[in-house]
Amino acid sequence: RAKKNNQNYLFYSTEMNRSSLEKIKLEAELHHALNLNQFELYFQPQVDFPSKKIMGAEALIRWQHPLKGMISPANFIPFAEETGLIVAIGSWVLNEAISQIAEWKKAGLSLDRLAVNLSVMQFNPQLPEEIAALLTHHKIPAELVELELTESLLMGNGQSNVLNQLHSNGFSLALDDFGTGYSNLAYLQNYPIDYLKIDQSFVQSLPDNLHSAAIVRSIIDIANNLGLKLIAEGVENQSQAEYLSNLGCNLIQGYYYYRPMSAADFTQLLITQQSE
Ligand code: C2E
Ligand code: CA
Ligand code: CA
Ligand code: CA
Repeated sequence: RAKKNNQNYLFYSTEMNRSSLEKIKLEAELHHALNLNQFELYFQPQVDFPSKKIMGAEALIRWQHPLKGMISPANFIPFAEETGLIVAIGSWVLNEAISQIAEWKKAGLSLDRLAVNLSVMQFNPQLPEEIAALLTHHKIPAELVELELTESLLMGNGQSNVLNQLHSNGFSLALDDFGTGYSNLAYLQNYPIDYLKIDQSFVQSLPDNLHSAAIVRSIIDIANNLGLKLIAEGVENQSQAEYLSNLGCNLIQGYYYYRPMSAADFTQLLITQQSE
């Protein structure tokens, strides 16, 4: 018995050491990635259906790893949140997104809204000032920036004060992945939300899946009743877009129109749209 416990202990301890070593390594690599400028923002257009007009875009981070190639945010953002590194990475994202808006503006290209994802950990009392300084520096109005947040149990009083302040500073706020998190409806009552993003898990099984269709209709009802705007994400085909549009959700983000693309490609797209 003693031996068995001992073996178990060794087994777990080896596993633990291995995984904590890996974590230390990944954390160092993420620090490194920030310092060496290995992150990059991609942009996914948000398109009006059926006119195809680009109404806005969402900024999505990518990690261009020198050996492993492009790493998806799904593979490092949760870890960055666990370690707190998301605060530094999130500041990089905000700076990059706002300077990109300024670049487009300088080039005479218009984009009405760029959405930036924020982790709840970034909602510290300094955040409104931090963003305000970036906007002043780049001479960009807050109205061009949308902040996307996901529902989370962690949102406390301090964070909701930050949210209210950001909203009164002119940013629009979008609730991401709507319908998948906690306390949806309380959020809508307590926070100054402008947009609901219908989660792709519901959109992708439209129009045939009756449950998804019922959930999507309910979300659209809630948005209409509360005067919120809607964005559907994960739209991959025409019948999904039509189904949503028939229910009154005309703002579409998904592979059906565009995948996320580099700044250079998105710039080209804005040029093309503007000259049409
Ligand atoms: P998200 O905010 O829900 O972003 C939407 C994700 O859906 C993106 O994945 C996008 O590429 C993908 N997507 C868009 N249209 C379609 C479609 O038609 N079909 C399918 N299958 N997928 C579609 P991505 O870029 O891999 O990002 C994954 C998640 O990583 C994001 O989910 C977001 O939670 C997080 N993330 C990305 N960038 C940032 C960032 O700058 N800061 C923070 N905190 N999180 C970020
Ligand atoms: Ca750049
Ligand atoms: Ca998002
Ligand atoms: Ca989402």
